[in-house]
Amino acid sequence: MAAPPRSPDAGLQGSRCSGCAVTVYPAEDACPRCGGSADPAALQGTGTLWTWTVQRYAPKSPPYQAPPGGFAPFALGYVELAEGVRVAAVLDVDDLDALHIGMPLTLTADPGVPRARPITPGEEGS
Ligand SMILES: [Zn+2]
Repeated sequence: MAAPPRSPDAGLQGSRCSGCAVTVYPAEDACPRCGGSADPAALQGTGTLWTWTVQRYAPKSPPYQAPPGGFAPFALGYVELAEGVRVAAVLDVDDLDALHIGMPLTLTADPGVPRARPITPGEEGS
């Protein structure tokens, strides 16, 4: 196993196969498709919501740690990045009912699960 593939400072660190060009997150030393060697690849961090669900009860603790205000329902989903990889993330949204497949999101690394938040108008392309 290589060094931990993600850190809050490095952003989303994935890997890309030098043989078949498959991109994965988190980074792997070997390609999961062809077994070839994979090189580190910084991922773009923007994508669209592929699917999601809402966690409406507190997960088992540990490992879950409730926030200071106590448990509140939150959303989890897969964000599909331009590189073609789908990344599981906590979805930081104010309104769970506003979630919809295809909505643009920006994704950031986190010591735990990556976090995604909606891209607000005027923010795209930055
Ligand atoms: Zn490959």
